[in-house]
Amino acid sequence: MPKQDPNKDKNNNFFNNNPLITFAIFSVVIILLFKGLVGDTSSFSSDNGANSRKTKHVSYSEFKGLVESKNIAKVEIGQTYIKAKSADGIIYTTRIVPSDPNLVTLLDSKGIEYSGFSETNWFTDMFGWLFPFLLIIGIWMFFAGRMQKSMGGGILGMGNSKKMINSEKPDTKFDDVAGVEEAKEEVQEIVDFLKYPARYVEIGAKIPKGVLLVGSPGTGKTLLAKAVAGEADVPFFSVNGSSFIEMFVGVGAARVRDLFEQAKKDAPSIIFIDEIDAIGKSRAAGGMMGGNDEREQTLNQLLAEMDGFGTDTPVIILAATNRPEVLDAALLRPGRFDRQVLVDKPDFEGRVKILKVHMKSVKIDNDVEIEEIARLTAGLAGADLANIINEAALLAGRKSQKTVTQVDLFESVERAIAGLAKKSRRINQKEKKIVAYHESGHALLAETTEGAKKVSKVSIVPRGLAALGYTLNKPEEDRFMMQRYEMWAEVDVLLGGRAAEEVFIEEISTGAGNDLERATDIIKSMVQTYGMSDVSGLMVLEKGRQSFLGGGQQQSREYSEKMAEKMDDFIKVSLSEHYDSVIARLQEYKGAIEGMVELLYKKENITGDEVREIIINFEKENNFKSKVVESVDEIKEELKEDAKILNKD
Ligand code: ADP
Ligand code: ZN
Repeated sequence: MPKQDPNKDKNNNFFNNNPLITFAIFSVVIILLFKGLVGDTSSFSSDNGANSRKTKHVSYSEFKGLVESKNIAKVEIGQTYIKAKSADGIIYTTRIVPSDPNLVTLLDSKGIEYSGFSETNWFTDMFGWLFPFLLIIGIWMFFAGRMQKSMGGGILGMGNSKKMINSEKPDTKFDDVAGVEEAKEEVQEIVDFLKYPARYVEIGAKIPKGVLLVGSPGTGKTLLAKAVAGEADVPFFSVNGSSFIEMFVGVGAARVRDLFEQAKKDAPSIIFIDEIDAIGKSRAAGGMMGGNDEREQTLNQLLAEMDGFGTDTPVIILAATNRPEVLDAALLRPGRFDRQVLVDKPDFEGRVKILKVHMKSVKIDNDVEIEEIARLTAGLAGADLANIINEAALLAGRKSQKTVTQVDLFESVERAIAGLAKKSRRINQKEKKIVAYHESGHALLAETTEGAKKVSKVSIVPRGLAALGYTLNKPEEDRFMMQRYEMWAEVDVLLGGRAAEEVFIEEISTGAGNDLERATDIIKSMVQTYGMSDVSGLMVLEKGRQSFLGGGQQQSREYSEKMAEKMDDFIKVSLSEHYDSVIARLQEYKGAIEGMVELLYKKENITGDEVREIIINFEKENNFKSKVVESVDEIKEELKEDAKILNKD
């Protein structure tokens, strides 16, 4: 979220705000000076200011006539014109006719005093040199002012970046950030370190230098970063990544240097870089154009600064992004932003908490049901909720009410949703139902299929624009190989989503497209690469795929048309066989799925343990032999296996 720099207006003086006007005034002054000062070296105009009004321009022939009639006392000859002073003080001017070589002879013959003069002087000479420079400076000022205006700085502040670095000592506390309990727990350690750095330094503990806060816009990343500073009671230096770009080359890097200098001077302290992807975009993704020099310099400076101080300097750099995948790998290396904290969109309970936090500052009617509002706002982020409450307060104010009522809140929610519907950040009821069954299908298969990875979380809170819901599997400890039954298990889990839609919704959706693709790929690799089918036996049909520069390499097929047909058949047949068995499982466990969907509707996020509890209860009620393997038991089994092998020796 963009933040208003309170110093912005103070720092922007008239000139920085109005570069065009400055330039115009500047030009006019210069021109006036020019007009006023440019005389010539002629003694006529400078000597007799009063007489100079009696200047008469005459034709060359008239001038010659005057000379002939001896009416002229003195003549001055310039490069383009001649001035002649008559006996009665009138100055005649005329243009030189270059083809008259006899002028001097004529003047000599008449005995008229003549001399040459330069029509220009030092000032005009210099002006001729200066003008282009002045013009360039003027144009530069104009654009610089425009650029910096949008960033809240002054043109004279180049290199002096203190103005763009927002420094404060926030009194935000963890209590102000709601619904992101896990994230708060993860940054708690940082607060502790900033409060008591000596403890950690003495013991030799390595504290993370950089922490990346990852999450959709408005989920409270900035707020959380501020709360860390507030809880630790340390200064908070913040900049926006995008303010480093579209600047003059070198300034971004200078600003990074300044930023770290200030933060180190005031250590312990926090540096917060919002929208770090603006600087930290992968250089590889920069494309063939050579990327953005300024960004690269800024990024390099940032990396250098981060490497430049030890873990004993109590400065922690927090950065926010909603696109961690585009970040340059160099940023994520150990000693830099090697820790990521997810600041997710809130689930039902989270939304209730956030609404409560923001309701503290407005007068709320006693009849307001917060849960009702939370239920209506699935998929919205904290910033949206804060907005809804503020809007409702404005509505109430307009109607001269003493408190904000449920009606105001409803109206405000409606507006917010109407505005957001376009951005498809909120799913409708029909989609919610499909997603709930789909994800429950995945979860059930994951828990009841031997060899499948256990579920850690099922969610119907939309994540980004693409995924409407998701099922997270337990992170596997480093696995270097998979057995065949585990691969089939993964296929079953992937098919579980689509199958659940068919069984419970009786209609299928596009939501399973990616699942089917992945299932197909797994079976294909079993045939082609791992020799796990009798299509080709042990024969490998494809060499390890080498993706060169994003997959430009031509894939040459090294097997026959017949083999290809056999493989296609195998994939198709196995998919449909597995799909049938998955459908059968879902029908068998219908009650468990309904239980999960119900809980998902209520909480939006459910844990793996809750999933297992629902399934086990269902199995007990129906006297099933449980298919759910408790992970602890599983580990015990494994240890027994190990013991057996060891005892053989
Ligand atoms: P981000 O940095 O993730 O884009 P912000 O921290 O700028 O989001 O959030 C903007 C505002 O929205 C906050 O100042 C706060 O009022 C509100 N807000 C967002 N998330 C939360 C939250 N989890 N708890 C309370 N308020 C929140
Ligand atoms: Zn799916």
